Amino acid sequence: MIKDDFKIIKRLYKDYTVKHLKKIIIAILFSILVAGSTSAIAYLLDPAIEKIFINQDPTLMYIIPFIIVIAFFTKGISLYLAKVIMIRVSQELKADVQKDMMKSLISTDTKFIDGIHTGKFISNLTLDVTLLVNLVSTALLNIFKDTLSLIGLMTVMFFQNWKLSLVAIIMIPLATVVARTLGKRITKATRETMDTSALFTKRLVEIFKNHRIIKSFQTEKFEHNRSSADIKNLKEKAIKMTEIFTRNTPIMETLTGIMIAALIFYSGTLIKNDELEINNFFSFLAAMMLAYQPVRSLAGLNISINQGISAAKRVLPIIDRDSEIKDKVGSPNLIVNKGTIEFKNVNFHYHSEDNKVALKSANILMEGGKMTALVGLSGAGKSTILNLIPRFYDRSDGDISIDGQSIYEFNLFSLRKNISLVSQDTTLFDDTVKNNIKYAKLDASEDEILESAKNSFAHEFIEKLPNKYETLIGENGVRLSGGEKQRISIARAMLKKSPIILLDEATSSLDSETESKIQTAIKDLTKDKTSVVIAHRLSTILNANKIFVVDSGKILEHGTHDELLSSSETYKNFYNKQLRRN
Ligand code: ADP
Repeated sequence: MIKDDFKIIKRLYKDYTVKHLKKIIIAILFSILVAGSTSAIAYLLDPAIEKIFINQDPTLMYIIPFIIVIAFFTKGISLYLAKVIMIRVSQELKADVQKDMMKSLISTDTKFIDGIHTGKFISNLTLDVTLLVNLVSTALLNIFKDTLSLIGLMTVMFFQNWKLSLVAIIMIPLATVVARTLGKRITKATRETMDTSALFTKRLVEIFKNHRIIKSFQTEKFEHNRSSADIKNLKEKAIKMTEIFTRNTPIMETLTGIMIAALIFYSGTLIKNDELEINNFFSFLAAMMLAYQPVRSLAGLNISINQGISAAKRVLPIIDRDSEIKDKVGSPNLIVNKGTIEFKNVNFHYHSEDNKVALKSANILMEGGKMTALVGLSGAGKSTILNLIPRFYDRSDGDISIDGQSIYEFNLFSLRKNISLVSQDTTLFDDTVKNNIKYAKLDASEDEILESAKNSFAHEFIEKLPNKYETLIGENGVRLSGGEKQRISIARAMLKKSPIILLDEATSSLDSETESKIQTAIKDLTKDKTSVVIAHRLSTILNANKIFVVDSGKILEHGTHDELLSSSETYKNFYNKQLRRN
């Protein structure tokens, strides 16, 4: 085992196992009983054969079978208790690891989430956690249980006849070597199966997500073939894995046969020379056969240890992930008065390694209490500007300030508390309408919720839902239209009552009645607040105090609609192509 692996085990012990030490010790005590009773069973064959079959002792004829029952009973009960305790411990451990993982993932950087494939990531992670927990619970218990049983059984073997025991011991490493070479192949096969199964989950998620695209492009057959190939691959990998797993059965069985045959042959010579009694031989044989299971389990232990350690190597970095975007120690609260936002020479690229700049020397002044509109073609950098304000990403250089306070010098909580985000595609949680609105303020009163729903014109359609505010929406509930979702999203922002509103206006066209309601709601939401709007509609732009024209990550011009129409070619073009239509 390399040093790193040892460090991981130490860390797992310190962070997770030590909390359950009491229970683990109890499980180990039961393991001692398992080992003791298993050895007793083997040992008892010696007096049983000698006293009952050879000497035909009438009292012991009753006592010994009785003791054998007790020994088996003790073994069964102790094994049961040890396992039950460890199952509990392992489930608790699993929950602890999962909690830590969720905590880290919930607060992780947007950049990290951008970079992962959700389906594959989730599939691997759930499997990895199980393997990791296996290492700290099952493997741990087995080490004790099997080592102790082996020690007990070997003591019986040596006690019965040391010469025979030596011969048996020489043969044990042979079995271990077989198990070890198989172990390496199993680890590789498990990894391959996991990757294939992750690929399958990924495909499944994609089929759900893209089913409309599949239908419209009529690629059902293509997708069917593709997933059939994945399934075939998965099937073959699974067969290969189980095949390797069971491959040691014939090998081990044959080896055991050879071992027993050799021992019988050798015992024959020992009995002939009066060096061994028949009762000792049977007790010895029983001990040896009972030792088979712990030997095999210990030999295979390296598989679960290897699997557990490689799983830990994937899980722990996620738990330990340090957010890049975090507070400086003791950073004060941001105090927002007017809410003026200023970008000074802001440069930004999404990935430090590539040279593609998403924002170049941007200077933007968004006046407090007024609406600022961002216009430009798709991919120009408008969302990027919005994303930098609540620090979803941090600028590469330059500075962003609110009321003259650099947002990087103040604590994140106070910054985000002052900002509401109304995004273009509102994602709703699988919960009731009420809880979806309340998401903006978890302790909001019924009146507050009602008020914001009324002001966002959401109340009128909510009243028509089967259970009104208690109707389930989202994946498992009622489907809402685009316009309805937008109104819920505006209601959320109204409830938050933050002085700064970031709004990514929806591009989807709505019927004129809904459209005008949403416009009124937005007007109400942004009244006297600092709002930054990615504008797609002329009516919104006409309301803006200032418009910034964004093109290829640069701020080209700014001004009012009329000013820009006469001064900016890009704006004029944009107006003719996009705005006039809406
Ligand atoms: P807009 O909102 O004007 O349509 P964006 O701000 O979304 O434009 O995108 C600006 C540029 O940044 C585009 O080239 C886009 O491909 C890139 N970009 C946007 N989001 C990411 C991201 N999460 N990771 C990497 N590049 C991104």
